[in-house]
Amino acid sequence: MRKKIIAGNWKMNKTPSEAVALINELKPLVASEEVDVVFCTPFISLIPAIEAAAGSNIEIGAQNMYYEENGAYTGEISPSMLTEIGVKYVVLGHSERREYFAETNETVNKKVLKAIEHNLIPIVCCGETLAQREQGITIDLVRLQTKIAFKGVSAEDAKKCVIAYEPIWAIGTGKTATSDEAEEVCAAIRKNMEEVYSKEVAEAIRVQYGGSVSGANASELFAKPNIDGGLVGGASLKAEFGKIVNYK
Ligand code: PEP
Repeated sequence: MRKKIIAGNWKMNKTPSEAVALINELKPLVASEEVDVVFCTPFISLIPAIEAAAGSNIEIGAQNMYYEENGAYTGEISPSMLTEIGVKYVVLGHSERREYFAETNETVNKKVLKAIEHNLIPIVCCGETLAQREQGITIDLVRLQTKIAFKGVSAEDAKKCVIAYEPIWAIGTGKTATSDEAEEVCAAIRKNMEEVYSKEVAEAIRVQYGGSVSGANASELFAKPNIDGGLVGGASLKAEFGKIVNYK
């Protein structure tokens, strides 16, 4: 049985002191043994967030990372900078990074490999635009995105990874995929992992849904057999996140 994982993607929100205040507010609301809880904060808030979350069930994740160890890459953050301070997860290939910062399937793959090498758990994002959904290519597209993202990743490592299916048209729009739409794509992603690896890997890997997850829709979404939790943007910055974590 896969443990659900519910991660908050804070995006470019909250200063370090605001981050600490939010973690202190949410800590009692997200205290759950049943799900893995992750807060993905801006880089500058990672250290205070780790300190504020110490002793709780909250793990801290980054929202991005570069795929080189060190060197002349102005503005970038390396995997060992993240692991040294206690970061456990890293979001890779979020659609906003693909759209605004020219991330490609190939750079996502390099980052996934590098994260795994450093024992960081990647949360690998995929998902279609509205035009792609209307064209009927959603499943082809997420198969392609995930296949490339996992190129060169061993079966043992793939099992530990998380995939986040996030239809772009549902991110930050208040429009959620129906639970059946989300389940259909998450099941297709799992099937794809079975084809690439094996049934064992497909059964182990966790597939989240993301896109306007809220306190109102979490229980229906997370009840689906192939949806192993959520990647949550807007609602992760409020007390509502506690409701999402305690979705049952
Ligand atoms: C996200 O940031 O990945 C996301 C899904 O955002 P929201 O929940 O606000 O749609």
